[in-house]
Amino acid sequence: MKINIIGQGLVGSILAYTLSEKYHCEIKIFNNEYLKTSSSVAAGIYNPITGKRMAKTWLADSIFPFMFDFYAEIEQKYNIKILYESPVFKPFASMEEQNFWMGKSSDITYQNDISIIENIEIIQNSISHPFGGFIVKKSGRLDVNLFLETIKNFFIFKKCYQTVTEIPKFDENEIVIYCEGAYAAQNPLWKFLPWQCNKGEILDVEIKSFTKDYIINKSVFIMPIQNDIFKVGSTYHFTDFSEIPNENGVQELIHKLNSFLNIPYDLKGVKCGIRPAVQGRRPFLGEHPTIKNTYIFNGFGSKAVSLAPFFANEMANHVLYNLPLMLEVKLDRKVNW
Ligand SMILES: Cc1cc2nc3c(=O)[nH]c(=O)nc-3n(C[C@H](O)[C@H](O)[C@H](O)COP(=O)(O)OP(=O)(O)OC[C@H]3O[C@@H](n4cnc5c(N)ncnc54)[C@H](O)[C@@H]3O)c2cc1C
Repeated sequence: MKINIIGQGLVGSILAYTLSEKYHCEIKIFNNEYLKTSSSVAAGIYNPITGKRMAKTWLADSIFPFMFDFYAEIEQKYNIKILYESPVFKPFASMEEQNFWMGKSSDITYQNDISIIENIEIIQNSISHPFGGFIVKKSGRLDVNLFLETIKNFFIFKKCYQTVTEIPKFDENEIVIYCEGAYAAQNPLWKFLPWQCNKGEILDVEIKSFTKDYIINKSVFIMPIQNDIFKVGSTYHFTDFSEIPNENGVQELIHKLNSFLNIPYDLKGVKCGIRPAVQGRRPFLGEHPTIKNTYIFNGFGSKAVSLAPFFANEMANHVLYNLPLMLEVKLDRKVNW
């Protein structure tokens, strides 16, 4: 089957690859390369324990095995390294938090995912962690930019990739799937959905002789990239959607980093992007309510790396075989918008 995909961010790339290579569809990607994208600034972290309450993430037991297989296949096929497993170390903020997590660590639902650590020798003095902390296993990061470049080159090679500044007119029988990220919130077709996009800043910093064995996650994360370069992030703004970094956001990151990093660092750069997030924090999958053959695959918020491979498969089965979608991701789902 022939399918047109609008947008080649992380989400459009994952869907295009899934439809082309697993479901043997004839794909054509139309991408506007002049737009600023969320994927190009994403840290690429995947983590089964997330949120303020550090709970097991939605569908963790289904999406993570799927995600590992998906990226492993890309690595093998193109002989590249894109997925870097790295435990997340989360220092406890207080004795109460330590007691709380001591209890949770014996809970069967968390046993395979976390372990409690009193002190990590290699980061002993470089960050403050007087109450110890816990390690989240099965976490790490995707090299998003290398993944995007690889998928783009693959579709260019197949002559199935086109740079556009305007979406072409399609025949009404042609299937079109919109993967426009936060730009969809401005598209008259998809404006009706309850978008809650947010902007985030992320810093590049150089920290000499700091551990590269963990992603540290306190009030901000410190994630190793290469040599002595780390990413520090990230912020959330709900009113400023300009394309330049928000100065308050930058100061917030610096302030939080200074509050627990005890060694010097150099600020090397600042980036920002708009996360395509929605009320209810579940992605949107499905066909437009009135326009046939016109679909959306979007709303992955801050979890596209881990959620999109699983849902690309759900989307493929829905579009090609009319299999029902999970209620939580349907466009007409009943949530308190
Ligand atoms: C600071 C920051 C940190 C983040 N960290 C993480 C993280 O650690 N882990 C994680 O999973 N997620 C993270 N995210 C979120 C992640 O970036 C997004 O969930 C994901 O990138 C969304 O991908 P997308 O393809 O939907 O959107 P985008 O990356 O924005 O891509 C949309 C694509 O569609 C194209 N496009 C748009 N409109 C049109 C049009 N009309 N015609 C043609 N092309 C069009 C754009 O040019 C672009 O190529 C982070 C986001 C930010 C801002």
